[in-house]
Amino acid sequence: MDKIYSELIQAKKIVIAGHIRPDGDCVGSCTALYQYLKLYKDEMGIQQIDVYLEPFGSELMILGGTDEIIHSYDSDEVYDLFISLDSGSIDRLGNAIKYFNSAKKRINIDHHISNNRFADVNHVVADASSTCEVLFDIMDENKITKEIAASLYVGIIHDTGVFKHSNTSEHTMMIAGKLISKGIDFSRLIDESFYSKTYVQNQILGRCLMESILVLDGKVVIASIDRRMLDFYQAAPSDTDGIIDQLRVTKGVEVAVFIYETKSHEYKVSLRSNGEINVSKIAVFFGGGGHIKAAGYTMIGTLHDVINNLLTHIDAQLIKQA
Ligand code: AMP
Ligand code: MN
Ligand code: MN
Repeated sequence: MDKIYSELIQAKKIVIAGHIRPDGDCVGSCTALYQYLKLYKDEMGIQQIDVYLEPFGSELMILGGTDEIIHSYDSDEVYDLFISLDSGSIDRLGNAIKYFNSAKKRINIDHHISNNRFADVNHVVADASSTCEVLFDIMDENKITKEIAASLYVGIIHDTGVFKHSNTSEHTMMIAGKLISKGIDFSRLIDESFYSKTYVQNQILGRCLMESILVLDGKVVIASIDRRMLDFYQAAPSDTDGIIDQLRVTKGVEVAVFIYETKSHEYKVSLRSNGEINVSKIAVFFGGGGHIKAAGYTMIGTLHDVINNLLTHIDAQLIKQA
């Protein structure tokens, strides 16, 4: 922690970035830290703080500071300090890698078990529910405003599936309580950022569930969506958020798989485990990463290649378990 503060004190130009296809924890942590550091700008002699993220779903635009996030990577600005949030490896930073490479110092704050400690200062808490939880623990609680609290709370609810995933701990709930005490409208934040769906999002969810397949004795459920379908609905990748959660609650299922085509012959695979199967291990094998019960990766090939290769790995773990 001292190392983080000593880097902050020395930096005049700071850049914050999170992973590609940002989720709630990524946007929540970036906006929380952005708003927090702004409070210290004068005191610490910080001249500039920029946040870079790929575009994300409009449901997260309710968070403070989201309108100031930069989505284009044209500038060749060189920063004193790069802060990576919620990214398990450099490649997850996408186009922001160029600012990482040119920055004088780099900090990596994260909670992925697969994090490969790619920065100068690495603060990785693998048993934390979310990067927002890690951030709360290094922030001065008294300085946390209602807006910062809202960002942290949204990050936590997204990564815990509203406090239901196994990554939710007593400590997570204690933090949530402290954030609530800042006066946030938590019901609205949960509904608007997590549960609320557009009509099209619901249609895509319905189609994916209807066309899903149940394999390996009902232990694995798989749903996929190709480019044609995404184009037909004029949907963005973030419009598929939540489909995996619905698949996961299928009775008897140990692993839920959701696959979408990112570009021709390239697929993003999301994995969720209900039991003993370690999906992070599988994702890491295919060049991705994540947590024991929630992980993902990107693979090139046909949809059949993706499914065949993946099922071999799931089956191997199921056999070992039996
Ligand atoms: P997702 O299925 O995209 O919701 O991701 C589940 C978890 O795995 C999240 O914590 C992600 O950060 C992580 N993850 C997903 N895709 C990748 C990837 N390609 N590389 C590393 N980690 C990933
Ligand atoms: Mn994330
Ligand atoms: Mn996260």
